[in-house]
Amino acid sequence: MIIIREAERSRRFLGEKATGTSFGFVPTMGALHAGHLALLQRSKRETDKTICSIFVNPTQFNDPADFSKYPITLEDDIRMLEMAGVDILFLPDVHEMYPEGTASLETYDLGRMDRLLEGRQRPGHFQGVCQVVHRLLSFTTPDVLFMGRKDFQQCMVVRRLIHLKSIPVRLEICYTVREADGLAMSSRNMRLSPEDRSTAPILYDVLNRLKRGLDAGPLESLLRAGREALAAAGFRVDYLEICRTTDLEPVTEWDGHTPITALAAAFLGEVRLIDNIDLTA
Ligand code: AMP
Repeated sequence: MIIIREAERSRRFLGEKATGTSFGFVPTMGALHAGHLALLQRSKRETDKTICSIFVNPTQFNDPADFSKYPITLEDDIRMLEMAGVDILFLPDVHEMYPEGTASLETYDLGRMDRLLEGRQRPGHFQGVCQVVHRLLSFTTPDVLFMGRKDFQQCMVVRRLIHLKSIPVRLEICYTVREADGLAMSSRNMRLSPEDRSTAPILYDVLNRLKRGLDAGPLESLLRAGREALAAAGFRVDYLEICRTTDLEPVTEWDGHTPITALAAAFLGEVRLIDNIDLTA
């Protein structure tokens, strides 16, 4: 595996790519787990060469404590990437990514995405996501970008970024990889206390309960029961909503056929977990 730390070198290296060689790209913030691995394996299957990046992007953290506590496990990550057969690791530092600093970066017209769900709870988060993904795509120029459905709204934001900036890349959204008890794998899970770790799968249980209880008509009582179940288990609920799958607009009354998704964010202690489930798949 080639490790590239400089943006310029990545440009030069990838510029030399043989015509006809397809590149897949999996951007990550490290602390890699089986969820990341699934994206890398899919890229390996579907493209000729796979690039992974590890960069903990400061501009997407609205909470400085979350940024400073983000787990760093670089040696293990490199070992895992080598075992997975990744061809190139792009490993820039903050100066490499933002040589002019982060004070006056480009902002993106994300429409309602910036105000719904994660956009509402984490002001500036998706601007930060676009700032970093836009740069990473311009450095790595992949043919296919692989992202996880666990961060469903992020996938929709990146789709919009690709459209806004006419970036020639295809976005592939990959299913959520879960622990045996249903908890969506996340780098943040390792920060859960043992007690909170045993409570955490209830988030996915509650999403499944919404799916089982779903009927055409008003959704408020179903959602209320879900929020109450989370609070009773010890979660501090940021949101639990049912939204149109296509644009994440909240749905309060379901017509029985529009594709809808339930999305949740909730804290256990100081760890914020997110998850979602397609209610109509
Ligand atoms: P992160 O390192 O958390 O920024 O995630 C990097 C990529 O991996 C993003 O596209 C995430 O959506 C994806 N990802 C994270 N966790 C999972 C998971 N449990 N299953 C599938 N994809 C995931």
